[in-house]
Amino acid sequence: MPGFELFGDTERAQVNDVLESGVLMRYGFDGMRNGHWKAIELEKALAKRMNVKHAQLLSSGTSALTVALASAGVGAGDEVIMPTFTFVASFESILAIGAVPILVDVDDTLTLDIDAVKNAITEKTKVIMPVHMCGSMADLKALKSICDQHELLLVEDACQAIGGTFEGKPLGSYGDLGCFSFDYVKTITCGEGGAVITNNETYKLNADHYSDHGHDHIGKDRGAETHPFLGYNYRISELNAAVGVAQLARLDEFLAIQKKHYAVLRMALEDVEGVTFRRVPEGGEESYAFLNFFLPDETTTKKVHKSLGDAGVDGCFYWFDNNWHYYRKWEHLINLKSLGKLPQAVYDQLPDYSKADFSKSDHWVKRNISCLIKLGWTEVEVQLRADKMAEVISSLV
Ligand SMILES: *Cc1c(COP(=O)(O)O)cnc(C)c1O
Repeated sequence: MPGFELFGDTERAQVNDVLESGVLMRYGFDGMRNGHWKAIELEKALAKRMNVKHAQLLSSGTSALTVALASAGVGAGDEVIMPTFTFVASFESILAIGAVPILVDVDDTLTLDIDAVKNAITEKTKVIMPVHMCGSMADLKALKSICDQHELLLVEDACQAIGGTFEGKPLGSYGDLGCFSFDYVKTITCGEGGAVITNNETYKLNADHYSDHGHDHIGKDRGAETHPFLGYNYRISELNAAVGVAQLARLDEFLAIQKKHYAVLRMALEDVEGVTFRRVPEGGEESYAFLNFFLPDETTTKKVHKSLGDAGVDGCFYWFDNNWHYYRKWEHLINLKSLGKLPQAVYDQLPDYSKADFSKSDHWVKRNISCLIKLGWTEVEVQLRADKMAEVISSLV
């Protein structure tokens, strides 16, 4: 997955353009910038690549999620349905705007379980936020139909699956809004950065204003601009955007490498007894950022995970015990340990997650191992890794 593995001359040249003009800000300073508008260039290129009308760059994937929700008018007391298996950014972005994160189970897709979503809907639900974890997607068709039926927004977190598709559409473009992260370990990186994509012009304008203190961006004098509504600062810098311009141009090259490496590892594990693979919903194609598989039980899975590490097969994750990606270790959320007070709606409406039953998620996640697909491996390295994985697993299952 990490695009930083293949940094090269194009990234350097893009950053140099910005350093030579000295304009590190994405807005204003027209005369000084030698025609370089890296953030705008990246927004145009991203919208084109994702086949949508609009893209808004932001300072991170977490800000992208926050701005996506805010730009669609989600706010205090609104409930947002999200999975138990994701990164903490999901509930952080929801809490940031005073909304309430409603956790629901995942299934063998390692993303939102459709029945669990249906059961979680109340009159306060405003958004369903699937997270396309580890390179593959939620069943977007089923989720879209639930959203249509209940008049909910579909906001896709595609931070870990950029380049994957569903029914031929790029992940992130299927819902009302889609979010990407370009942090340092993602498939393409800006160092720090993120983006919202949408076909909805109002959301785009809202995102554009909201992420820059409410600036309406009309005219050439920043100080004279008006502020139609309250905003915040979630801007990206030109330096970060410049790296992204170079990296986005290489996305398809990176995806092809991921797919090739994934195929070798998958083939080696296909015939290993006891190994099953994560379900990809019908109509979906993974980004191949990770290879995800299940083993027969928790004890075996833990043993295999440890033995893979001992055998030098790095980059394999056992999320069930992870502090950041699975609800079991989110005691700061469960106990609402915030620095200051949270909005009253959060205290009133947040379910008591210390008593929640997510055994359905546990059933899948405790038997899952996810292996990162790296870009920099040589063919020989991938084959050695594949052979070693098959050997380790066969010996323990
Ligand atoms: C990385 C990530 C984010 C947040 O992105 P940052 O740019 O690190 O803020 C959000 N959701 C998922 C699923 C992620 O993997």
